[in-house]
Amino acid sequence: MSDTAPRALADAPPEHFDCLIVGAGISGVAAAYHLGRQCPGVSYVVLETEDSFGGTWWTHRSPGIRSDSDLHTFGYRFKPWIGPPIATAEEILSYMGEVIAENDLTPHIRYRHKILSADWSYADSLWRIAAERLDTGATVRFTANFLWMCQGYYRHREGYMPDWPGMADFKGAIAHPENWPEGLDYAGKRVVVIGSGATAATVVPAMAETAGHVTMLQRSPTYFRTGRNAIEIAETLRELQIEESWIHEITRKKMLYDQAVFTEMCFDKPDIVRRELLGQVRKVLGPDYDVEKHFGPSYRPWRQRIAFVPDADLFKGIAEGKASVVTEEIDRFVADGILLKSGEVLKADVIVTATGFNMNVMGDIAFAIDGKPLAFNETVTYRGMMFTGAPNLAWVFGYFRASWTLRSELVADFVCRLLNHMRATGASSVEPALRPSERDMPLHSWVDEADFNPNYLLRAKDLLPRRGETPEWSHTQDYWREKDAFPAVDLNDDVFVYRRRARAAQAAE
Ligand SMILES: Cc1cc2nc3c(=O)[nH]c(=O)nc-3n(C[C@H](O)[C@H](O)[C@H](O)COP(=O)(O)OP(=O)(O)OC[C@H]3O[C@@H](n4cnc5c(N)ncnc54)[C@H](O)[C@@H]3O)c2cc1C
Repeated sequence: MSDTAPRALADAPPEHFDCLIVGAGISGVAAAYHLGRQCPGVSYVVLETEDSFGGTWWTHRSPGIRSDSDLHTFGYRFKPWIGPPIATAEEILSYMGEVIAENDLTPHIRYRHKILSADWSYADSLWRIAAERLDTGATVRFTANFLWMCQGYYRHREGYMPDWPGMADFKGAIAHPENWPEGLDYAGKRVVVIGSGATAATVVPAMAETAGHVTMLQRSPTYFRTGRNAIEIAETLRELQIEESWIHEITRKKMLYDQAVFTEMCFDKPDIVRRELLGQVRKVLGPDYDVEKHFGPSYRPWRQRIAFVPDADLFKGIAEGKASVVTEEIDRFVADGILLKSGEVLKADVIVTATGFNMNVMGDIAFAIDGKPLAFNETVTYRGMMFTGAPNLAWVFGYFRASWTLRSELVADFVCRLLNHMRATGASSVEPALRPSERDMPLHSWVDEADFNPNYLLRAKDLLPRRGETPEWSHTQDYWREKDAFPAVDLNDDVFVYRRRARAAQAAE
C-alpha cells in the first residue's frame, strides 16, 4: 500500500453496521452466529485484532495448552462436540473453524483490526468507532447502532509478570505462556514453572515429556480435580449409536447437573469437597507425599477456579519423578536459577512465568459518550452485561464456575431479543438505569471477594464497573439462576430507558 493510502482511508466516510462485534474469540463467534440466526436482516461486522479467530485459543501457544472444563459445555449448544471432553487449543480452533465455515461467518469477520476508540452520540444514536489496521497502519472508521463487546477479560500477548529482583541476572530463557517464544528449546533442560493455576498445571506435564526436569514453584497451592478424560454417559450413548446431536445435548445436561451439585457441595460442605479433591491427588502420589502442603489451599473450594487435570497427568509426572512441586516464596532471581526465601537455589535453564493475566477493561478501548470519556468504574452493571450510562452496549463476561461459553450464548440470546424488541418498537437506543428506589443502593466492586478472589480480578477491581446488591445489578456467576432469569427479563421493565432517534435528536438540540 502506498504512503497516501492510510490518509485516504482515514478520510473515507465511515462504514455503517447495525451491530459491531468486538473480538472473534469463542464469544464473538457465538454473537455472530446468533445474530445471523435470531436477527435476520441486521447488518454486522466482527473486528478482531489478531490474524485469525479463536481469541484465547489462538494467542496461547505454550506447550500442552488445553481447556480445563469440558467441551460439551464449553462448546456451543448448537454444535455437537465429539472429541474427548478436555480439548487442546488446536481442537478448539478446529471446532470454531467448522462453526465459521458451516455458517458462512467469514465474510463478516475482519482480522488485524484493533479498535482504539468508541464514541457514542445521543443525537445520532450511534457509536463512532476508530480502529487501526495492523497490516497497513491505517485508521479505519465505522459507525454502529449497537456495540457488542466480546473482547474477553485480559490483555492478550501481555501476561502479568511480577517484577522480581534480579531478573536481569538470570542467564537462561524466561517465557510467559501468553507470549511463548517460538522454537524455545527445553529438551533435556531444567525448567522451573512459576505458578499454580490451570496454565501451570498444563505446562508442567507437557514440558516434562522432554525436559530434563520440571519444577512447579508456587507461593501457595491450588485445588485441582482429576479423572479420566472421558465422560461415561457420552461413551455409552456412542456405543448405542445415538446421534451426536443427542449425545451432545444429553452429556451437556449431565455435566451441568454434576457441576451444579459440585458447586452446591463446595458451599454447603467445603470440608468434604476438600477431602475428596485432595484424596484424588493422594491416590496418585501415595501416602508419603505431602499433599496438604502442595495441593491443599487455605481457602475453601471454588473461591478460585478449579481446573480439571485430565488423566491425572500432572500428578503422574510428579509420581514418576519427571516433575516436582516446591511451595515456597521467591527471594530473587540469580544467574543460574531462583533463590528461595529458605536460602535454597532452584537451578534452572528455563523459567516459565505462569503468573496470570493483566485484565483489560473493555478491550483497552477509549470510550466516550458525546465526547466525554466514559469511566467504566463509575458505571453500575446490569446483570454483568450492560452498564448504566452506556447506551446500546453489551459485554460478555462468562462464568468461572461453569464454562464461559454458556454465558456467551445466554447473553447472545438476550442481546438478540433486545435488538428485535427495539426494532419492533422503533427504539434507537437503550440503557439500563437505577430506579429512583435504587439510587441509594450501596455499591461494591465487580466481584464479591468473599465469593471469588483470583489475583487478576483483585488487581483490576478499581477499574471494573460497580455492582449493586441484587442479582439484577450484579454478575452473579450463577448459570443455574441466569439460564431462567435472562429469558424471563421483561424488556418493558422500567430499568430500561429507551429513546427514539427523533426524540434523541431533539434532546440534543
Ligand atoms: C489458558 C486458558 C485456558 C482457559 N480454559 C478455559 C476453560 O477450559 N473453560 C472456560 O470456561 N474458560 C476457560 N478460560 C477462560 C477463557 O478466556 C474463556 O473461556 C474464553 O475463551 C474467552 O473467550 P472470549 O471470546 O470471551 O474472549 P477471548 O478468548 O479473550 O477473545 C477475545 C478476542 O477479542 C479480541 N480483542 C480484544 N480487544 C480488542 C480490540 N480492542 N479490538 C479488536 N479485537 C479485540 C482479542 O484479540 C481476542 O481475539 C481459559 C483461559 C485461558 C487463558
